[in-house]
Amino acid sequence: MGRIVMKFGGTSMAGTERIRRVAGIVKRQQEAGHEVAVVVSAMAGETDRLVTFCREANALYDPAEYDVVVAAGEQITSGLLALTLQAMGCKARSWLGWQLPVRTDDAYAKARIEDIDSGALLASMAAGEIAVIPGFQGLSPDGRVTTLGRGGSDTSAVAVAAAIGADRCDIYTDVDGVYTTDPRIVAKARKLKNVTYEEMLELASVGSKVLQTRSVSLAMKEKVRVQVLSSFIDETAPAADTIPGTMIVSDEELEGLDMERQVITGIAADKNEAKVTLTRVADRPGAVATIFGPLAEANINVDMIIQNIAKDKGETDVTFTVPAADLLRTQALLEERKEAIGYYRLISDDKVAKISVVGVGMRSHAGVAATMFKALAERGINIQAISTSEIKVSVLIDADEVELAVRVLHTAYGLDAE
Ligand code: ADP
Ligand code: ASP
Ligand code: MG
Repeated sequence: MGRIVMKFGGTSMAGTERIRRVAGIVKRQQEAGHEVAVVVSAMAGETDRLVTFCREANALYDPAEYDVVVAAGEQITSGLLALTLQAMGCKARSWLGWQLPVRTDDAYAKARIEDIDSGALLASMAAGEIAVIPGFQGLSPDGRVTTLGRGGSDTSAVAVAAAIGADRCDIYTDVDGVYTTDPRIVAKARKLKNVTYEEMLELASVGSKVLQTRSVSLAMKEKVRVQVLSSFIDETAPAADTIPGTMIVSDEELEGLDMERQVITGIAADKNEAKVTLTRVADRPGAVATIFGPLAEANINVDMIIQNIAKDKGETDVTFTVPAADLLRTQALLEERKEAIGYYRLISDDKVAKISVVGVGMRSHAGVAATMFKALAERGINIQAISTSEIKVSVLIDADEVELAVRVLHTAYGLDAE
């Protein structure tokens, strides 16, 4: 039979009763004849709580010590799930990040997995033991605890699946699949049977938090088969092997599966961006480089950029977006360099949101952006910036208009469920 990795998120692990339900789902999967490894998140809210403690202890916290603190949430749930499985008569044990180990680089608080030793894990699974692995945590080259960035347990699960050559990586969460947009915002969102790796990657990177972006790029690279499905089920629910959730598939697989696809697959919103405008920047070669060079050196990720055409004075306004968490640093860096850059005013606004529409169908259909602009205009929603890729169009709008914009676009692209 197969080898399956099952990942359970924070809401699924929040408390004894929910952990018992998770243990039941895991036990059934093993009884279906599979070798099973389980990756768990901390209980919902726990990582936030631990982050707050770090901030209170030291506002400019050392990321290596932050990792020692925040990795603790997953240690607790992995032990509790192993105990619960044992109470149900299963053989189970926990494997902490340093015990496997899950080797990462030394970028504390946002580490990347480099390698997972799977020998001991495979031997234990072959002997019928359920392996329970805390997500989110790893071991640095210096032998210290690392964490993978928020939402990182998804990436842990995909990495374990790749390391042990799993037949499938099932990501159990609090919704029963990937929807056309966040089903908690749009009641008419539709569940997708399939979504391609590329689409999921774009959706995750523009704000659909259902999967961490890095987990999707890793799955794409390592060809891991990923299903997103619900953990809020009982014994009568269809088995995971019948694929009740959303499967992430390659472009080729999709062609054979879904002939009736809409041009747009999904819509995502991201409120974590901030807009910065520098007015009256000199319109000369090198001016833009003096703005963005220092931001790149400070590891600040600039997303959308617009530069107006210079009018008669040889000056132009430059507008761009950065993650809201980096806004203060961005302002400080640019103010320090006001002379060198030569701008007049710095104006920032963190009450903005980015709405993105994503779909591989855009490659072969014209007019996707025009539909978006028209639908937003009809509701009086002003567009402040635009960016595009081969399968995505994003616009920046006022943060107060996000939910309305997502609903309007969902209807405009014909995505509403009947
Ligand atoms: P977990 O704790 O299991 O990792 P997350 O909260 O990280 O769960 O991700 C699940 C949430 O993602 C859902 O509750 C839903 O609100 C949100 N979400 C955003 N966009 C989508 C989408 N397109 N499809 C499904 N869920 C989405
Ligand atoms: N517990 C971590 C977080 O809240 C990792 C995860 O749940 O994926 O970000
Ligand atoms: Mg998550």
